[in-house]
Amino acid sequence: MFGRGSFMGDRMHDLVLINAGELVTCAGSGGSDEEKLGAIEDGAMVVDGGRVAWIGTARELKRKSFGRPKRTIDADGGLVTPGFVDPHTHLAFAGSREDELERKARGESYVSILAGGGGIQRTVRETRKASARRIAEESSERLLQLVANGVTTAEVKTGYGQSTREELKMLQAIEILRKRSGVEVVSTFLGLHAKPPEFGDPVEYVSYAIRDMLPRVASSRNRPRFSDCFCEEGVFSREGCARYLRASRELGFELKIHADEFADSDGASLAASAGCTSADHLGRSNAAGVEALAKGKVVAVLLPGTSLYSSIPFADAREMARAGCTVALGTDLSPNSWIESPQLVMGLACTGLKMTPAEALLGFTVNAAKAISRDDVGSLHVGGAADFALHSVPGYRFLPYRLGGSYVKSVFKRGREVYSRAD
Ligand SMILES: [Zn+2]
Repeated sequence: MFGRGSFMGDRMHDLVLINAGELVTCAGSGGSDEEKLGAIEDGAMVVDGGRVAWIGTARELKRKSFGRPKRTIDADGGLVTPGFVDPHTHLAFAGSREDELERKARGESYVSILAGGGGIQRTVRETRKASARRIAEESSERLLQLVANGVTTAEVKTGYGQSTREELKMLQAIEILRKRSGVEVVSTFLGLHAKPPEFGDPVEYVSYAIRDMLPRVASSRNRPRFSDCFCEEGVFSREGCARYLRASRELGFELKIHADEFADSDGASLAASAGCTSADHLGRSNAAGVEALAKGKVVAVLLPGTSLYSSIPFADAREMARAGCTVALGTDLSPNSWIESPQLVMGLACTGLKMTPAEALLGFTVNAAKAISRDDVGSLHVGGAADFALHSVPGYRFLPYRLGGSYVKSVFKRGREVYSRAD
């Protein structure tokens, strides 16, 4: 394993973690998923300056000489994992739509709710009405829920502003959220989310996004790393998304795409030809598209919580694994699919997508980090971020096995405790 047993010296360290019954690093080497997990029985870890300084077994730790740490964390024989990385959220918005769940349960379709001014357009109206500070305030409660469920890095998309001014306000809201959260927030400009009512034709809106929104977002002081679009029949066409992604690339953005969620729009192959970092949803992607994702090293981000919420097909995770795709998982936390638990999503990944528990955990850690172009989070290795979560279950296989509960005891971001469950 990378960095295991490296020299620590004898100076005082910030933090020592002991007594981890199973310390899963997600930094293992080897071909199998179990090897990639790099699990250490009776594990220990030393943290300095927010980074992992040493990692190994308790027995190895005893043989090292070092002074008293400032703080010792006893994992009590439980599971310790890297902090989860949520690579796909829409958690920045104002308002809520809890009544729509009831309407859908009574048989009304999303399309009819949307036609009556509900659905996404309701969130757009409420988000436009709110100040950046108000959006950040409402969103921070949701982000805290993710943190309490083990998340230390979350991607957050814009997309409910749908005009240059309102999208810049959303970026400002995400920046406020980032500053006050204590965890890491990675922002994405979702320029093509849905066509706002003031535009008659999606093609016209794509041109507006390219001509007006993208350059202003690119030169904004809250410039995000990623640009994203929604490629779906009846939303934005493959051709429109291709134009948008080309323009985004020319402005130096890294690319993401919502593809093939409800129908096969050949979005997976577009993700590969456009050079996207990740392609997300992929419930209906065709086999050639999946092959293209693997060949193009595009991370496949699967969102089984949304499939469950919206009664749409689960992505074919087995076919993706066979093709050699890097598969990540996300919550897709949004006003339409308000999902705040990585553990629940991992459970759905195993029951619905037939992923193994090892694949599911890699999906919410090291592979999710790849979906946001990061290698310093999502795994525990010397020199990497000391982002980790202590769980009250004995091993990682319990995470997808126990559905609906929460077993996170405490969460550390760069060596600092950001959540602790009151016992
Ligand atoms: Zn999404």
